[in-house]
This record gives sequence, C-alpha cells and structure tokens, in this order.
Amino acid sequence: MYHPSGSVTQQASGSAAGVLDPTAQDTDAMFYQRCTWCGTAMYHRLLCPVCQGSDLRTERSEGIGTVRHSTIVHRNTPAARNVSLIEMSEGFVVRGRVMGPPVGIHSGDRVRLSTAKDPVRGEPVFQLLDEPYRAWT
Ligand SMILES: [Zn+2]
Repeated sequence: MYHPSGSVTQQASGSAAGVLDPTAQDTDAMFYQRCTWCGTAMYHRLLCPVCQGSDLRTERSEGIGTVRHSTIVHRNTPAARNVSLIEMSEGFVVRGRVMGPPVGIHSGDRVRLSTAKDPVRGEPVFQLLDEPYRAWT
C-alpha cells in the first residue's frame, strides 16, 4: 500500500537556479568583422556593406573610438541616457552608451570600451578617455 499523506513534494527543480551561460564570451572585448575581399571593417554584419562579400573574418577591437553622434533618450527610462554612435579606431561604427552625464558627451570625444555587453540591454558601454572632471587642473 502507498501512503499518500506525504506532505513534501519532491521535484527535481535544481536547474531553476540562475546559472550564467558558461559559453558567454569575455565581455571586456569587442569583436568585429573585416571583409577579406576589400578590408572593410564592420560590426555584426553578415555581408560586407561595400562589396557584398560574405567572406568575413572576426577580429578583436582595441576598444578605442571617437564619438560621432550622441543623442539623449528619455523614453522608457527613469533617467536620461545617451545613445551614441562610436567610430572605432579600426573603422567600424557601433551604437552604444557612453557613461557619464549626457550633456558631457560631444561629437569628437575619445572613448574607450568599458563593457562589450551591458548586462541589461546587451549594448556596448564606453567611458570617456578625457576625463572631463580633471580637465581643470
Ligand atoms: Zn568587402
């Protein structure tokens, strides 16, 4: 005979724990593609935007770039944040966020990659190379 009075429900729910993806890449590094046909650098493309070539190789960026355009976004966020287009030294452009007060970010500012993938939005995050607060020494 069974004893249905067992009050403990036994479930193999150990897999519900938040386990980080073991295959996650190093988030401190940004990788981009370079066309082996014409040498154009691009970011997250499947085809070369110049020659339509599909023979791309992945390279690692040094993470240094220049702000080309910066927009302040108020939508869907409690605090204003900026969305910037960063032209990397390798020649490709990425969209990401620059840390710091949005009014302190201008076109031409030099930035360095801080995190390749923001944990919330999955977008690259940069920091200003020329620290504005120390400019008045
Ligand atoms: Zn190409």
